[in-house]
Amino acid sequence: MKRVALLGATGSIGRQTVEIVERNPELELCALAASSSVGELDRIAHEHGVTHVSLAGDPPLEELVAASEPDVVVNAVVGFAGVKATLATLELGIDLALANKESLVAAGPLALRAQERGGGRLLPVDSEHSAAMQCLGDRPVETVEALVLTASGGPFRGRSRVELAQVDVSEALAHPTWSMGPKITIDSATLMNKGLELIEAHYLFGLPYKQLRVVVHPTSVVHALVHYRDGASIAHLGYPDMRVPISYALTYPECAATPCEALDFSQGLTLEFLPPDEDAFPCLRLARAAGEAGGGAPTVLNAANEVAVAAFLDGALPFLGIPETVEQTLARVDAPAVSDLQQLLELDAQARAVAGALTRELVT
Ligand code: NAD
Ligand code: MG
Repeated sequence: MKRVALLGATGSIGRQTVEIVERNPELELCALAASSSVGELDRIAHEHGVTHVSLAGDPPLEELVAASEPDVVVNAVVGFAGVKATLATLELGIDLALANKESLVAAGPLALRAQERGGGRLLPVDSEHSAAMQCLGDRPVETVEALVLTASGGPFRGRSRVELAQVDVSEALAHPTWSMGPKITIDSATLMNKGLELIEAHYLFGLPYKQLRVVVHPTSVVHALVHYRDGASIAHLGYPDMRVPISYALTYPECAATPCEALDFSQGLTLEFLPPDEDAFPCLRLARAAGEAGGGAPTVLNAANEVAVAAFLDGALPFLGIPETVEQTLARVDAPAVSDLQQLLELDAQARAVAGALTRELVT
């Protein structure tokens, strides 16, 4: 029996994780956390006999993890709020099934050092990274030419920068292939999600940015592919369904059965790939540049993006104000590498303050 601590239990990934646990007799929930939907959290806790429960940070997630003694932690919290749980899980040597990509983007070097000390596994839940991990297998890293992450392109694929100036919140929330929480849905519309995923891939797989590529693939059937030096490419395909990578991370390396169907080729299958438009979607370029700059730049990028996305969702910032806020925050905040959690929290707070002021300026 594998004990699962589920952080962010009432969200999109959290609910699908509950479903995977309920269908697999080898998995049981031992801890639950959320900051919303109290009734739902209570219901899941009651149905699964879970007594270790955290609501809105009480008790703090890192204390919940330590007290509940899980075999694996699913971090499905959204945003930087998940960072302490990621670091604590890795430090304790507990396996981490990571959906909360923001924590790895913001705290990559700290997380990798914590993992090295703790000795647990870092298993991606993000579909592209779960796919990439499988395409990479145990082949030597020097045989890899490039890792390619696919992006659906979001609801605004094909639109120009001028057209994007007018889009509103409800259009941005209408994702064509994935049903997800609001923050990642906006990140998908700006392509910042793919930018965060580039940085996530850099930390997970140790590949330099020049070997990390993004291609737009509207139907989200191919999740990632790896080009090898012999000219072959290995891809991972499946219908877009997060239950597959969630189950893969929770049952690794056993790859347990899920209720998800394999691809059906009987009706034909066409796969389309396009280059990303970095003029209309500058967040991708900004994220790559922040990743390449290293130091604290990814932390600043992430903080500015969270502030800008929240302002956009509140109707207080236009869509193009998101990349604008991120770019200007990166230009204004000095971002040295951080060496501990305290410095990380300070840099994050500083970037948030600058980004917050910028979002107010950009409105008026
Ligand atoms: P969501 O908004 O649907 O759910 C977030 C969950 O986190 C909720 O249960 C919420 O109550 C909880 N939460 C938020 N702040 C918290 C805090 N401070 N303390 C405790 N709990 C807190 O988000 P989501 O779409 O499920 O995404 C979660 C994470 O997974 C994000 O980092 C996202 O980028 C990543 N991810 C999501 C998907 C997807 O399909 N939804 C795919 C890949 C990666
Ligand atoms: Mg993804």
